Amino acid sequence: MKVELVTNVLDANTAIAEQNRQFFAAKGVFVLNLMSAPGAGKTTILEKTIEALKDQIRIGVIEGDICTTRDAERIAALGIPAVQINTDGACHLDANMILRSLQNLSLEDLDLLVIENVGNLVCPAEFDLGEHYKAMVISVTEGNDKPTKYPLMFKESQAILVNKLDLLPYTDFSLEVLKQDLETLNPQAQVFPISARTGEGVVAWSQWLVELASSIKSK
Ligand code: MG
Ligand code: ZN
Repeated sequence: MKVELVTNVLDANTAIAEQNRQFFAAKGVFVLNLMSAPGAGKTTILEKTIEALKDQIRIGVIEGDICTTRDAERIAALGIPAVQINTDGACHLDANMILRSLQNLSLEDLDLLVIENVGNLVCPAEFDLGEHYKAMVISVTEGNDKPTKYPLMFKESQAILVNKLDLLPYTDFSLEVLKQDLETLNPQAQVFPISARTGEGVVAWSQWLVELASSIKSK
């Protein structure tokens, strides 16, 4: 008997991610993997995005956290289908966790599925989940050194949201410096300055998502 040896955990992950990707394509749902450090504001941004879009497109959310169902409860409170994955210590989501969680979501009823990854600037960017696009949040309180210290997530993301814009006057963060760093790391990235607290910038970001979701439908 020939035994296939899977030598690389990332290779195994990629195979399952490919299965997820085909499933998403068959259901016509656009899938976004949303990443950031803990506390950057992913869930609050999602709440504002859902408020802006829930009469335009059908949204579902998968929440990834090490513990608790708090974030899925916040999303479900808005009347949106939400599934919580608890990774039980793991610091990122992988494709198999997504595959299993899909049993609890009715994808044919969705236009957009957002997967909120575990708060972590490192390995979430290494694991393909089968998503169409990655987006990440950096908040201005995290400082300008993050793109050069943690380049992979900044390189892999099609959109970079710069959150907590309302706090900009109280920090040394520079949007210009960020944009200069991105010219080297990821010149194609869409940059969305945003304040989930005040709502500034939510419309531009939300419209970008609507366009992506409808581009999948028209294929
Ligand atoms: Mg969260
Ligand atoms: Zn990890």
